[in-house]
Amino acid sequence: MPTVPTAIWNDVLGHIQVNHPQLMRGWFSTLTPQHVSGGVLDILAANDAQRRYLEKHCRFALSEAAQAATDRLITAKISVRSDDDNDEGSVEAHPDPDQLAFNQDYTFEDFVTGPSNRLAHGAAVAVAGDPGRAYNPLFVHGAVGLGKTHLLQAICHEVIDKNPGTHCYYISCETFINHFMEAVESGALHEFRYRYRHVDVLVIDDIQFLAERERSQEEFFHTFNTLFQSQRQIILSADCQPSEIPSLEERLISRFNSGLVALLDRPCTETRMAIIRKKSKLRCIEAPEDVVHLIATRIDTNIRDLEGALARLDALSQATGEPISLAMAEASLGNSPGKPIKIPTILEAVASRFDVKVSDLQGKKRSKAVTYPRHVSMYLARKMTERSLEDIGGYFGGRDHTTVLHANRTISKLVDTDPTVRQLLDEITTDVKNAGY
Ligand code: ADP
Ligand code: MG
Repeated sequence: MPTVPTAIWNDVLGHIQVNHPQLMRGWFSTLTPQHVSGGVLDILAANDAQRRYLEKHCRFALSEAAQAATDRLITAKISVRSDDDNDEGSVEAHPDPDQLAFNQDYTFEDFVTGPSNRLAHGAAVAVAGDPGRAYNPLFVHGAVGLGKTHLLQAICHEVIDKNPGTHCYYISCETFINHFMEAVESGALHEFRYRYRHVDVLVIDDIQFLAERERSQEEFFHTFNTLFQSQRQIILSADCQPSEIPSLEERLISRFNSGLVALLDRPCTETRMAIIRKKSKLRCIEAPEDVVHLIATRIDTNIRDLEGALARLDALSQATGEPISLAMAEASLGNSPGKPIKIPTILEAVASRFDVKVSDLQGKKRSKAVTYPRHVSMYLARKMTERSLEDIGGYFGGRDHTTVLHANRTISKLVDTDPTVRQLLDEITTDVKNAGY
């Protein structure tokens, strides 16, 4: 079968680098183009995690690049080296529509350690190596954007890679609550319990959403006990310690505290620099050391913000066709964290989160699907900009300042009482800060 000339393969990778830079990963250089035959370009990935990433995100880009490089109609086909073909243990072996999709970048390999996260990382590695025995439960907590989800998913990747066939069930707390409510309503509690009590590793992200949910707490308590007694691993994350989750039952607090509770703290400058280097490598971004230092010293909020700054810089470099430099970084950063936030940026971010149109946020419709995001936009406009109530009202189809005040009060109350809303607003706030590039 015709092999693939190196020059053609380099062209394929070059095409992706130019046209889909966000898809590039450092390990692309280890892919093996096998042969072209019958209009199919066979590409060998080193392991199943890489294959999943390529299948999910890059098939179209690879085919398009192969067509551009050869001037022939070619489709990319990805397979994995046979000695590493452990499909049996891959996530797809346990298809569940509610299982959260794993991010292929959230592995231990790509998790940078430092004083702020060493304990949590060490515990996560230990748990992944010996689920059900090392620390059970493992409870990881920390503020938004500090790596909880990354660490939880890294455990799942490791467990599945090492022990093909392990049923690792990774879901959000909201999914657990929704499943439970649906099961109660449809009289299918038996199925619900079977589903949750027969997994090997149960991973629930953002467990703080159990706050104020008495019946879900009760059910979770029993799920927990059943799994724990049969030495199945339980891994939880939250934005605070167990005892700080509002109205969490005492018996759950004590269960959560009975294993290992590990904090993910804000990283120090050295760790932030190491994270930027790691992310740059992962995304094939050339960031000189002085730029890495500048970003790390300017942005100390959380890691998601660091990534946002790097992405902005990358976009700027792509747009101008110039390599990333200190001057470019100065200009880009000078324009970002402390920059005045504009109301249209908030409207865009809210509209995209709620999947509504900006014109609806500014219009007269009164359905709940529109009024809630509209109130959220007004609240954020009040919080994130210096604009007066009247000015803000003006952006929303000339509404009165009392309407803005009312929206502000309504959302403030929700933020105080509902952790789901708090988290959502934190995320939109980060989106707004990262926007505009
Ligand atoms: P959380 O769940 O705590 O809100 P995430 O796990 O979503 O935070 O992390 C936000 C981003 O920061 C992700 O892209 C993640 O890969 C990255 N990140 C967090 N901590 C680290 C780390 N120690 N090393 C590398 N990347 C990290
Ligand atoms: Mg998270």
